[in-house]
Amino acid sequence: MTRIGRFAPSPTGPLHAGSLVAALASWLDVRAQGPDARWLVRIEDADTERCLPAMGEVILSQLAACALLPDEPPVWQTQRAHRYEVALDKLKAAALAYPCGCSRKDIDEALARLGVAHTRHGERVYPGTCRDGLHAKAARAWRFAATKFQQVSAEPLVHWHDRRLGDQQQDVAHEVGDFVLKRADGPWAYQLAVVVDDAEQGVTDVVRGEDLADNTARQILLQRALGVPTPRYLHTPLVLGPDGDKLSKQNGATALQAGTPAEALAALDAAAQQLGLRATNAGSATEALAEWVPQWRDLYNSRP
Ligand code: GLU
Repeated sequence: MTRIGRFAPSPTGPLHAGSLVAALASWLDVRAQGPDARWLVRIEDADTERCLPAMGEVILSQLAACALLPDEPPVWQTQRAHRYEVALDKLKAAALAYPCGCSRKDIDEALARLGVAHTRHGERVYPGTCRDGLHAKAARAWRFAATKFQQVSAEPLVHWHDRRLGDQQQDVAHEVGDFVLKRADGPWAYQLAVVVDDAEQGVTDVVRGEDLADNTARQILLQRALGVPTPRYLHTPLVLGPDGDKLSKQNGATALQAGTPAEALAALDAAAQQLGLRATNAGSATEALAEWVPQWRDLYNSRP
């Protein structure tokens, strides 16, 4: 089986020191698996409200400056809406997606009535108000019937293994609730788009930042509901900002400087050390990358 990995940045800004770590890790993981393995780049611009169209090209040129070159032309999610529509139709046909008419205020009020202040990572845990019908409200979103799917499947908890973090489990219905697949007349949700794309691109290995680990159980449920394979997962350590949170534009991440070969090499060297690889004395990005491949293989056990 051809191993396929991918880097899937959202073009909300240029690459920074944190996102370079995920890019480098997914690239090394593919290269460590032998000459036939392929590394793809997917620009995750499905959330048109947050993404800046020009940033996709900026990210691709930053990657190229670091000698991180995809093996196929990059894919853009905004060109793939029809694929997400097909997946949503399939879930609707299986009665695993339902329209929801709740505003944030409606959800807060429903949670207050239930006597629970139920949020997870700042997001409201949906109490299932529209599960049995819209109650004369207009649809604002489509949700995945996670609660129902978990009830009918033999496993109420989603179990999965992370190659770095070890065994994980989550009760999606209880901890997250029926999550959004698409906002009505609005963008496709990350969870659906990422599952459809990983499946259609034949991705076997997802390597991405640890902040995304919490999404994995949701994505595994969707994979099962859509009848597509579950890839292997590895979540990489996060680069933290001065406030101790994940480095991001909001807490001061500056755009990756890779304008000269020396800058690109220095940025890669810092990213490699975040991943537990040794600092390099190589003279170019390409040489440094070649040095790190066997180190990555030893650390993360990805055999060719
Ligand atoms: N587009 C997501 C992000 O940039 C990453 C998605 C993924 O790797 O699954 O945060």
